[in-house]
Amino acid sequence: MIAPDLETAIRRLGELIEESAAVVPFTGAGISTECGIPDFRSPGGIWTKMRPIDFSDFLASQDMRNESWRRRFAMEDQFGGARPGRGHRALTSLYRAGKIPGVITQNIDNLHQASGIAAEHVVELHGNTTYASCLDCGKRYELSWVRERFDASGGRSPDCPGCNGYIKTATVSFGQAMPETAMRRAQELTELSDLFLAIGSSLVVWPAAGFPLAAKRNGARLVIINRDATEFDDIADLVVHDDIGSALAPFIAQ
Ligand SMILES: [Zn+2]
Repeated sequence: MIAPDLETAIRRLGELIEESAAVVPFTGAGISTECGIPDFRSPGGIWTKMRPIDFSDFLASQDMRNESWRRRFAMEDQFGGARPGRGHRALTSLYRAGKIPGVITQNIDNLHQASGIAAEHVVELHGNTTYASCLDCGKRYELSWVRERFDASGGRSPDCPGCNGYIKTATVSFGQAMPETAMRRAQELTELSDLFLAIGSSLVVWPAAGFPLAAKRNGARLVIINRDATEFDDIADLVVHDDIGSALAPFIAQ
């Protein structure tokens, strides 16, 4: 059912949440656009103008590693101050009420954690861009640490002082393997859910497309909240083609 208007959408969503024991949200870029973080994949987005750096190029070339960090710090200056939006805050309220056991996200912006969901309850399919790690020993580095050395060396990406490994944002780049643990945990959460909320994802980028289908096959009810139509609208129990913040704001606990 495609909700005919926002009021109906909110009422029906409230009923579905009320009737469910395990609500599992799956979030994409659309939940963060009201926080000022653009959807890089959307038409006109950054990635249509500037090709992302493949993982193999990052490994092969110091210039590419420098360029990758140069872009990352440019992004930080633009979006580093982003705060959680109404969608994040609504999900955090439901999490605190015991309705949501965990969130699966395609986003790398850390905004679910910033809104109060414990890091161990956020499954990040594409990693996290708000910190870095050594590709060899796994040691975590903060962006400020990287930036200090990047700036002091005239724009050279620093290597790990412990093992000389390359240091990269903790994201999953194009050409890099999907993180196995995150994929497994996402699968487990999906199977646990009796209400699966796909929010702000076009559901076309693999592996996003698999989860709503898996939830539905497992007997969960499926809600899709997305500005544009998705190919799963037909099998969803509720489809909301409306602004995500407006649809979820009534679920923010006062
Ligand atoms: Zn290292």
